[in-house]
Amino acid sequence: MIVRLNLAKMKQIVGSISEFEFKAKTLELHLEREGIDSVGPVRVKGQIENIGDRIFVANGQIELEATELCARCLEETKVRLKINFSFKFSDAILESEDEDIILFNGNVIDLYPQVINEIILNWPSQILCKTDCRGLCPNCGANMNITVCRCKSDNIDPRLAALKQLMKSE
Ligand SMILES: [Zn+2]
Ligand SMILES: [Zn+2]
Repeated sequence: MIVRLNLAKMKQIVGSISEFEFKAKTLELHLEREGIDSVGPVRVKGQIENIGDRIFVANGQIELEATELCARCLEETKVRLKINFSFKFSDAILESEDEDIILFNGNVIDLYPQVINEIILNWPSQILCKTDCRGLCPNCGANMNITVCRCKSDNIDPRLAALKQLMKSE
């Protein structure tokens, strides 16, 4: 996905604003730690403004869809995210040490690293097909949202089973 903004013209005029929109069918991420392989479709939309002092502010929204597996029942689940962003860029060495300002060289800003970073920061910690997903039976593996298996509560959880054994022997 290419998300680059050319500021050659805007640099000349303080107060100038330009709109941008980028779309991609898929965005390959391959983030092993987060378990995200690829997402899509993705849309990055917003506007950038030259606010003076060689500072440019980009405001906008990242919208994306992805198909992931439910953490409990492993069914494919649609994930939809809308992430608002606001980034400040400058091509000047700044005296004020504003840590929020991202430095760039030349006339082109590449939003790609910021977009990836926002997706990681806003990725849900747990993906569920529905909030009350009943998951899989730990005994027979049946999807408990769809069927009621014949497993009795006797052997629900190995840890609970161990506890029951203990109580019996007492
Ligand atoms: Zn589920
Ligand atoms: Zn079962």
